[in-house]
Amino acid sequence: MIIAANWKMNLLGHDARDLASEFQKIAKNQSVSDVKILIFPPALYADIVNDVCDDERLSWGGQNTHIARFGAHTGDISAEMYRSVGARYQLVGHSERRADHKESDSYIGAQLRAAHEAGLHMVLCVGEQLDQREAGDAEKVVTEQIARALDEVKEYLPDLWDNLIIAYEPVWAIGTGRVAEPQDVFQMHKAIADYCTHSLGAPQRPQILYGGSVKASNAQTLFALDYVDGALVGGASLQQDAFSGIVAAAIAVQKG
Ligand code: PEP
Repeated sequence: MIIAANWKMNLLGHDARDLASEFQKIAKNQSVSDVKILIFPPALYADIVNDVCDDERLSWGGQNTHIARFGAHTGDISAEMYRSVGARYQLVGHSERRADHKESDSYIGAQLRAAHEAGLHMVLCVGEQLDQREAGDAEKVVTEQIARALDEVKEYLPDLWDNLIIAYEPVWAIGTGRVAEPQDVFQMHKAIADYCTHSLGAPQRPQILYGGSVKASNAQTLFALDYVDGALVGGASLQQDAFSGIVAAAIAVQKG
């Protein structure tokens, strides 16, 4: 199981330092085999977070990457730069980046390329809008997002699958308090798994995280579902108690 914290554009430096050391305690309080915790902090807090990571139970990654390694791209950061200061993961294709920065599937694929070439594990976020779900198009939208992104990294397949995690995040569930129904989560995760293995040639199904208003109170039900390998958590990752409750739910499910 993987429980990933997306801090987005939140926290001041001293808050990030405090929260990072709480995360270190949460990670240390479990045995190595239980749950892997990831933090996606604002890039400015790379050092703060890197200091508490052990890369066994706790690792971190960038929330976004430019597609080039270096160059005249003021204000941007490359995957290789993240890697050089200790990142092991890269978040790609979050719906807020798709909306705020008009990131397309092909650009997201180029970000996968950059992350893969930098030697990072990738968490590719996909998810449908509410009207797309209501129209019965959710699976089509999500599988097309995956296919289009992977189209950009064809020459790295099948190896790239080893380092690729998919995060299914229905856009209407992010930050809204509205969680997808467990049956719908199961169905979508299974559809993603089947699509990756049967249509995209993945040697085995990737790990698939659910994201969208996960809290301690709903985490255990979600984690108990087949094909759910953890969560990508936004709001609840900003509070130590809420986040440790989610990690505890993952541990409880793993221990059966
Ligand atoms: C997210 O931003 O990826 C997310 C899932 O946010 P929240 O948990 O707040 O819905």
